[in-house]
Amino acid sequence: MSFDPAARVQDFLVFGEFGDVNPSICDSSTFTFLSPDRMAEAFEHDIEGCFLYARHWNPTNKYLSAALARMEAGEAAQVTASGMAAISSTVLQLCSAGDEIVSSRTVYGGTYALFKNLLPRLGVTTRFVNLADEAAVRAAMSPRTRILYCETISNPLLEVADIPALARLAAEHGVTLVVDNTFSPLLFSPLRLGADVVVHSMTKFINGTSDCVAGCVIGSEALINRMNDVTSGTSMLLGPALDSLRAASILKNLHSLHIRMRQHGANALFLASRLEEQGFDVHYPGLASHPQHTLAIRHMNQGFGFGGIVSVDVGEKATADRLMVRMQEERVGYLAVSLGYFKTLFSAPGHSTSSEIPEDERHTMGLSDGLIRFSVGIDNDVARTWATIRRCMAHVGIEPQVLAAR
Ligand code: PLP
Repeated sequence: MSFDPAARVQDFLVFGEFGDVNPSICDSSTFTFLSPDRMAEAFEHDIEGCFLYARHWNPTNKYLSAALARMEAGEAAQVTASGMAAISSTVLQLCSAGDEIVSSRTVYGGTYALFKNLLPRLGVTTRFVNLADEAAVRAAMSPRTRILYCETISNPLLEVADIPALARLAAEHGVTLVVDNTFSPLLFSPLRLGADVVVHSMTKFINGTSDCVAGCVIGSEALINRMNDVTSGTSMLLGPALDSLRAASILKNLHSLHIRMRQHGANALFLASRLEEQGFDVHYPGLASHPQHTLAIRHMNQGFGFGGIVSVDVGEKATADRLMVRMQEERVGYLAVSLGYFKTLFSAPGHSTSSEIPEDERHTMGLSDGLIRFSVGIDNDVARTWATIRRCMAHVGIEPQVLAAR
């Protein structure tokens, strides 16, 4: 049989897949139909394997969504252009004017600002509570509560949520438990533990290369379908679509997530242990001194470690600032917000990623001005990294005996 290139090209256009180990990248915002009736049908309901318009769905975003749904043991998933897009479109799908959210008081600053400042303009209000205090959570619930919201491991204080207990509470009150699992992909499976919806900022560990902003929502098929409804879905109508080229690159990075999480976790545990030995107040769920260490072990998937984020209080803001500048000069990592990068990133959340939270509330929750949040990289020789950090500490005048005296 002779090879007809024109016919092959035609095949590619129609079927898309032709044996590559990575799925073909969909580079199209709109899709063809053979008949107007079929197009009309696609507006009414999803047709398997049929695409309408890339803000709704496209094949590459479907691949990535399906992989994320499998990772989180969910029925379905939706990818979005940022973590905040995932959070805002989920919350707006679940809440209407007059509804309430009960949220952990220690959440990412952007989430806090969304709940505290923006949603009230749409008639949705939030009560922030200490999730470790079950009576306070119960007291905050009302007949108008629609969502109980938390982060599995909170940003930046690394409190670990008791997801099964929160799931029981949510079920009792008929509310949806939404969990942000950004800090702990693979470490925890919130849906298996009883949560209803998981959101991620894929900007962080899932992508792992700090080269894009992206997010996802994972939950029931019914919720994801509602979010994609062409007449009323937040995902369709607010337009948080992820670009398909990005979806393809994130999908490739997702395949090394298990290896990266182990290495982030091993390095973070090493540094957290050394810092604690020096007398610092260290927040890290892998330390026996962490208040939810036992709880974390009970609910975690084994073999991935305790995550890559370590927060440490070095005292004054000025000390934290001097240390971070020196660590950047000595190439420990970068003074930058965000996390999950293969190199170490550090910042002082009180004056950056959590600055949206008013000062008095930051102090109530224990977020001091001298807290440094490390997103520990996947360095091959973490003992050498630690030796460099010790040198930086000595350079800015932080000595072990000073710490011991604190
Ligand atoms: N959730 C957590 C825990 C975060 O740390 C962040 C960002 O830092 C977000 C959500 C928001 O994600 P994005 O920046 O991708 O919108």
